[in-house]
Amino acid sequence: MAALALTQNLRFTPTPPLKTLRQHQRPNPKTLKITASSSSRLSGRKLRAAVIGGGPAGSSAAEALAAGGVETYLFERSPSTAKPCGGAIPLCMIDEFSIPLHLIDRHVTRMKIISPSNLTVDFGSKTLKSHEYIPMLRREVLDSFLRSRAQSNGANFITGLVTDIEVPDSYSSKPYVIHHTVNNCKRSLAVDLIVGADGANSKVAKIIDAGNYSCAIAFQERIKLPDEKMEYYHNLAEMYVGDDVSPDFYAWVFPKCDHVAVGTGTVCAKQNIKGYQRGIRERVREKIKGGKVIKVEAHPIPEHPRPRRVRGRVALVGDAAGYVTKCSGEGIYFAAKSGKMCGEAIVKASEGGEKMVSEEDLKREYLREWDKKYANTFRFLDLLQRVFYGSDVGREALVELCGDEYVQRMTFDSYLYKKLASGHRWDDLKMVLNTFGTFMRCKVVGREMEALRLSAKRAISPFLPGEDEGGKHVSISCFGADDFVGLVSGLLIQVWCLKLVHFGIDRKLA
Ligand SMILES: Cc1cc2nc3c(=O)[nH]c(=O)nc-3n(C[C@H](O)[C@H](O)[C@H](O)COP(=O)(O)OP(=O)(O)OC[C@H]3O[C@@H](n4cnc5c(N)ncnc54)[C@H](O)[C@@H]3O)c2cc1C
Repeated sequence: MAALALTQNLRFTPTPPLKTLRQHQRPNPKTLKITASSSSRLSGRKLRAAVIGGGPAGSSAAEALAAGGVETYLFERSPSTAKPCGGAIPLCMIDEFSIPLHLIDRHVTRMKIISPSNLTVDFGSKTLKSHEYIPMLRREVLDSFLRSRAQSNGANFITGLVTDIEVPDSYSSKPYVIHHTVNNCKRSLAVDLIVGADGANSKVAKIIDAGNYSCAIAFQERIKLPDEKMEYYHNLAEMYVGDDVSPDFYAWVFPKCDHVAVGTGTVCAKQNIKGYQRGIRERVREKIKGGKVIKVEAHPIPEHPRPRRVRGRVALVGDAAGYVTKCSGEGIYFAAKSGKMCGEAIVKASEGGEKMVSEEDLKREYLREWDKKYANTFRFLDLLQRVFYGSDVGREALVELCGDEYVQRMTFDSYLYKKLASGHRWDDLKMVLNTFGTFMRCKVVGREMEALRLSAKRAISPFLPGEDEGGKHVSISCFGADDFVGLVSGLLIQVWCLKLVHFGIDRKLA
């Protein structure tokens, strides 16, 4: 502890802002003087922070830091590139992050969810209130707006690729040195702390040894449709579930400004992603007929938070930290929110950029607050994904349940406003019973579909080996252990829902 206290009282001589320096004037970060001071208060300068990555997480962190008095440097390697993304954000983000309405390309007011047996449920047309919608925007537009706002709040924006980071000993308050390239010229910048907002392939996370997370791979084609086909999607988003489009996620058709994004994702069978993409194209064949592919893109989506999200004076936010929800693959709001919370936490701990901050400060002011607010939401959606996306029985049940107006309202309240609405005990009880009934019914649908598949196979190839067929019959003709687990988990989820809703955890999550 004594060593910790001593090192926290060290300070390094500040370097002037990088963008005002010429090559020959730049300080050698290795010769920065470290001088002892009697307190962790910084004298004659402000706390210096580097934010690596100019997506929603990084820009929101940089804005909060700069507005709160911290000398802030925001690094983005390619500001003109669009992040592969569906671009759907929750309604509450517009007010919370003061997003101008003109940035929104489309107001989605109708959703369809389509099961493996092609059961289609309309989601939203009856349940959304007249002022409610899902905003869809282009990431290049949103990201550039958020970056400009961070700049106008005082953040120094650097178009540069961060190539390496020199990390000081864990208990030292020596600077971190950010090596980066700007227009192919090598540069360095010394800072007191780092916010790693560099996405799912985070270099910052690797450098601080934050540990790995499993990732889904998302694949998406941007398709420009003939006008009459585009009209069908003008306020409609579609979600498809089934083994043909993904073994553990969903496939989508999302309307963008003048085209649709058609894509899918998977965690457990990444090598087959192109096959699943063919699957979703096949399901929407008629709807996208005559369309022209204008872009093909793929990107990892983190599945859960990293084992470590704070180390020394480095904090991870957004995808770099692993803040994407299961079930929906939603990450834009959580990226912006975590960036903002982290930035504000640093401002608070540093008393407006006047004091050095420590690992403990970051853990207390940022991590603990984040986990208090969202850890349960992430766990809950993880469980939902396991129950409802894991098998065709679960998927049929999911789609059937989505037809229930009460389920729709609860879903919209939690998605659009990021809180669990207080429900009605009686409706909650009905939901529990419905889940039970739905799983039973869907087991029957699953059995019928399997029988249909088998007879189709038999018609194509009458000489299929008998044991294969027999094996399948055995496996589908009884209520198996996996179904039982699914059913019980479904019920548990509903009971958990009830608890969340009625015992006030929703207020903490809100
Ligand atoms: C196909 C697909 C569809 C999706 N659809 C949706 C959706 O509809 N709604 C939703 O909410 N979420 C969606 N997501 C998830 C969402 O895109 C992410 O969760 C979100 O972008 C995370 O934001 P971020 O700022 O943490 O990271 P990113 O948006 O990935 O930003 C990281 C930034 O860091 C920069 N960077 C990286 N390394 C360096 C470096 N070394 N030096 C300098 N800069 C660097 C990158 O250029 C990038 O701009 C989707 C994801 C995918 C892959």
